[in-house]
Amino acid sequence: MHSLNRQEIIDWLKNENSRELDDLFFAADATRRKHVGDEVHLRGLVEISSYCRSACTYCGLHAGNKKAIRYRMNSEQILKCAIQAERLGYGSVVLQSGEDPQFDMKSMEQLIRSIKRETTCAITLSLGERSPEEWARWRDAGADRYLLRFETSDPFLFQAIHPDALSNIPSRVDQLPVLRQLGYQVGSGVMIGFPGQTFETLADDLLLFQALDLDMIGVGPFLIHPETAFGTGWVPREIDPTNQVESSVDMACKVIALARLLRPDAHIPSTTALATLGGVDGRIRGLKSGANVIMPNLTPTDLRGDYAIYPGKNVSFETAQVCRMELFDMLKSIGRVPGKGPGHRKRSQAPTNPSFTPKT
Ligand code: SAH
Repeated sequence: MHSLNRQEIIDWLKNENSRELDDLFFAADATRRKHVGDEVHLRGLVEISSYCRSACTYCGLHAGNKKAIRYRMNSEQILKCAIQAERLGYGSVVLQSGEDPQFDMKSMEQLIRSIKRETTCAITLSLGERSPEEWARWRDAGADRYLLRFETSDPFLFQAIHPDALSNIPSRVDQLPVLRQLGYQVGSGVMIGFPGQTFETLADDLLLFQALDLDMIGVGPFLIHPETAFGTGWVPREIDPTNQVESSVDMACKVIALARLLRPDAHIPSTTALATLGGVDGRIRGLKSGANVIMPNLTPTDLRGDYAIYPGKNVSFETAQVCRMELFDMLKSIGRVPGKGPGHRKRSQAPTNPSFTPKT
């Protein structure tokens, strides 16, 4: 028995032996059960704006995409969604958007206060890179969590896929401790299988999840959007094709499983990107590989299609009520139960890098 080191992580990421991989998924599932139980926490996702000032090479909402349809929800609409989240029994609401300066310090502060006044929901923000002053004010107003994926731990790759990030601006990795210090539960993560991502960089990403002691870890397959730099065939660097991580359900489940072993008590969603690539089966596979969170979409159905960070996202326009029924049935079918309450992370006494060897 031994801890997972960098080389072992790389070997798992490259492993294609289905019997050995079943052992990995089984171990991750057992770790999930032991540390966070059978509850699946449901976080109602409200995509509050498709406006974005950034130029990320992967995201369909980047500022230069003239074909993107932009919308911005007003405070009453957002509050209504949060109230709906509570009625549906979801203990928390996630407010996500492009990097939209119109949601400024004051307007967000007021919005957070009104959601806290009207509901008992925990509030997660996912509004991209904002100033420490804004983050502090929103935390004071009652925001509980912040999701900011660092996308890659490789500084060269980070710069390349965020071309408007000035070199004197610290990368997202450096911003996470600021959020932690302010008292947020901190979530981060990466996309899996974007051009230029190697097995080594992905292993480093996983080790960083562990070192940062993240409360939430979100990972999902990269899905190419035609109206982005990646969509035109651009690559950030030439790499040996055998070292390119693929974007697949299998690879995403391996990363979820390894993240669970490295951070046994973290909240890990079976992401929408995984469900977009692999359908309901993909979502279930994520839940059986270590995930314990789902983020059902509560964005009004007439706006959902315009939050197109990748193609095929939000193709389901079913009402929140129908989605909830299907979700509850699915959870029941795999022996899991919907989480109750806000679903804050409960720290366990677990070692951060548990022993794990395959049974083969
Ligand atoms: N503006 C916010 C929210 C972005 S959307 C922010 O930047 O944090 C949330 C996540 O979706 C991103 O962090 C990214 O990891 C993921 N994402 C964006 N484009 C994607 C794509 N084409 N394929 C898969 N995931 C993508």
